[in-house]
Parts: sequence; C-alpha cells; structure tokens
Amino acid sequence: MAIEKTFSIIKPNAMKKNAIGDIISMFEANGLKIAAAKLTILSKAKAEEFYAEHKARPFFGELVSFMTSGPVLLMCLAGENAVAKNREIMGATDPKKANVGTIRAKFGDNMGENAVHGSDSPTSAERELSLFFEKSEICNL
Ligand code: GDP
Repeated sequence: MAIEKTFSIIKPNAMKKNAIGDIISMFEANGLKIAAAKLTILSKAKAEEFYAEHKARPFFGELVSFMTSGPVLLMCLAGENAVAKNREIMGATDPKKANVGTIRAKFGDNMGENAVHGSDSPTSAERELSLFFEKSEICNL
C-alpha cells in the first residue's frame, strides 16, 4: 500500500502538559513517522483560515482563542493509511467518549481542549498540510 500523509497538531493544552514525547511515541508505536514538524504559536488569522469550515458554529471564537493561546506542534505524519490510523490513535472529538488508550482519552480536557487535531480525509490533509508546510519541508520517508 502507498504511503499516505496526514496533518496533525498537538494543541496548546497538551503542550502545557509536556506531552509531546508521549504523543509522538503513540504515533511511532502505531507505525506512523514524523515527516515534518514545526513548533509555533498560531496567529489569529491562520487559526481562522485553518478552521474556516467552522466559522458559523457557536464555538468558533472560543476555538480560535484556544488554538492561539500558546505553542502548538504542527506535524506531517506519514505511513500506510495515515489519515484513518491517526484518527484511530486520536480517539473521538469529545475526550469523554474517546476509547481508552487514545490520545484524547489520555490528554484531552473537554470537547474544545481535546489535545490533538488530525485531518479527517486525504483531501483535508492536502489542504491543511499546504497551509502550514512548503512541499520542500516535507520529507519523503
Ligand atoms: P475533530 O475532527 O475530531 O477535531 O472534530 P470537528 O472537526 O468536529 O471539530 C474541530 C474542533 O473544533 C474540535 O477538535 C474541537 O477542538 C472544536 N470543537 C468541536 N465541537 C466543539 C464544541 O462544542 N465546543 C468547543 N469549544 N469546541 C468544539
């Protein structure tokens, strides 16, 4: 099977918990590799562009404010079936509903502050990766 790429963010609440190492270990233990990484603080404009599909939702302002509240780790994950595999490792959006052992069950606090983002389809992955990485910044592993 071809190697697929997906986009991942370790969100500010998980960064505050010093959980980068634990989260990346979970990706690696499940066969995903880090093909690009960038530690940064998102601007309001970039966070709004990234979450544009949620603009009309009542939680949009809260979401943008949370995502710009501290450092985040932006990553490209690569591996077989990377998009679906990452979603499985992450767990459900609401940490209370996430399966035991998933990232969101371990490090999520609530529906908004749910530790990680992961693209929900190969099309989203392509759009999201291109928002944050130049093609030349992503390694072909
Ligand atoms: P995901 O693909 O599992 O991240 O979920 P969605 O695409 O539905 O939502 C995107 C992000 O918006 C989630 O990861 C949450 O951080 C945030 N979000 C979704 N629903 C809510 C909500 O009801 N309240 C708040 N504050 N944030 C939410």
